[in-house]
Amino acid sequence: MVSRVIPVDTFDLVIFGGTGDLARRKILPGLFRRFLSGQMPSDSRVIGAARSELDSNGYRQMISDAIAEFGGDEKSDKDGLAAFLARLEYVTVDAKGENGWSELAKLMRKDIVKAFYFSVGPSLFGDLAERLHKHKIADANSRIVVEKPFGRDLETAQALNETLAAHFEEGQIYRIDHYLGKETVQNLMAVRFGNVLFEPLWNNHYVDHIQITVAETVGVGGRGAYYDRAGAMRDMVQNHLMQLLCLIAMEPPSQFGADEVRDEKLKVISELETVDAHHIVRGQYNAGGDGDSYRVDAENPRSFTESFIAMKCHISNWRWSGVPFYLRTGKRMKARTSEIAVVFKELGHSIFDGDSGTHQNILAIRLQPNEGIDMQVTIKEPGPGGMRLVDVPLDMSFAEALGDADIEVADAYERLIMDVIRGNQTLFMRGDEVEAAWRWTDPLIAGWEGRSDVPKLYDAGSAGPEDAMMLMHRDNRKWREVKG
Ligand code: NAD
Repeated sequence: MVSRVIPVDTFDLVIFGGTGDLARRKILPGLFRRFLSGQMPSDSRVIGAARSELDSNGYRQMISDAIAEFGGDEKSDKDGLAAFLARLEYVTVDAKGENGWSELAKLMRKDIVKAFYFSVGPSLFGDLAERLHKHKIADANSRIVVEKPFGRDLETAQALNETLAAHFEEGQIYRIDHYLGKETVQNLMAVRFGNVLFEPLWNNHYVDHIQITVAETVGVGGRGAYYDRAGAMRDMVQNHLMQLLCLIAMEPPSQFGADEVRDEKLKVISELETVDAHHIVRGQYNAGGDGDSYRVDAENPRSFTESFIAMKCHISNWRWSGVPFYLRTGKRMKARTSEIAVVFKELGHSIFDGDSGTHQNILAIRLQPNEGIDMQVTIKEPGPGGMRLVDVPLDMSFAEALGDADIEVADAYERLIMDVIRGNQTLFMRGDEVEAAWRWTDPLIAGWEGRSDVPKLYDAGSAGPEDAMMLMHRDNRKWREVKG
């Protein structure tokens, strides 16, 4: 199957923070792939804007180096690369001062899509929004893209929303959560709402529980100072895991439109019950392998910040009442994997003599590695010896099923940037959604801070602290194996 690429309208995309890590590692290599695929019209431009004193040629060299380092096979296309680099410009701009703004204003073209990617720390969002207006660079049709973290609690998120709202309408603001740009996340919606098979079972009559795991093998690395102020709850649960939970639990929207989908996600967040302290396990990794302990990595020998968290949540509505949602995420774990598993209930009665096993259908949606869907079904064990039952996977790897050679699976960032240019906000978080997520998160954090809770230590390279296993064992359930 050959993928269909629909070109977007001609655009000028300004990347504030265009010399930063995210721009060099993800945004520009992604745009290069969209350029090669023909999706980015050849008269579009990408304008890097940052504090570094560079000219456009210097910026082209920087991005050429970044693509050589972070790009995939496409970097061998020298002609393509030269054509892409020719579409780059650079302006030295100070978000906090007047330097560079009139040059940027002069560079922008009229009557095309204008997008501004705020790939800088959130403390600069207000300055950028204000100056884009003051210098009449943005208009009513312009879009801004803002990166995570969107606040560190409800109060700061509300303040950020107000700051942006002073200059931009909600319909112009694209709050990025790159998990929503993953192919499988969108497939989750296709599987749920495009098949007759699953929806009748998608409720507390048939679902025993749901597990969401996002495990990383890396530690906090160079982000130690930021991470130590955030922890796994703020860095991962409030945004990425919450978004996955919403997509799995939400009611079918009336159509696949931005507000219809986001209205349904907002309802799920608002219906999340507060979590009992006994249903939260926080962990911190020990030194192990060739890595240091969390406290060494974070350069804080007295840190109580969690690098791992597991929790049992409930959603109070008719569909999900009584169905636990177990969430788990951590660093320096056994394998790098992200997965959502819908574990169905056991059969009430087995008709097969001697079948003493417990069999549960499991629908596992793998986000990484090897994006795909895996359905565990029970069949007869082959061979003579009567009706012995065995659970086997019906595995569908998207790459295999759709023909690896021809299908082009866009990276989350490139897909989302193209959505910005198209003006499609479906896969971006709305302001009220982000605030609702913090409204749920804040009291949980305040709870463990108030108790001076100390995270449980876990071995680097493990599946997390023993207490996280107990969280499941107490309910006669078990986590799925963390495997890459
Ligand atoms: P970075 O520190 O590598 O880059 C920051 C950029 O901002 C640089 O280009 C710098 O020149 C520019 N900048 C700083 N102060 C400026 C000013 N006063 N005026 C103009 N430009 C200024 O940061 P990063 O890792 O690229 O992250 C950028 C944003 O993306 C942050 O909000 C971060 O939280 C978010 N983010 C990054 C990643 C990642 O993988 N790097 C992942 C998710 C979210």
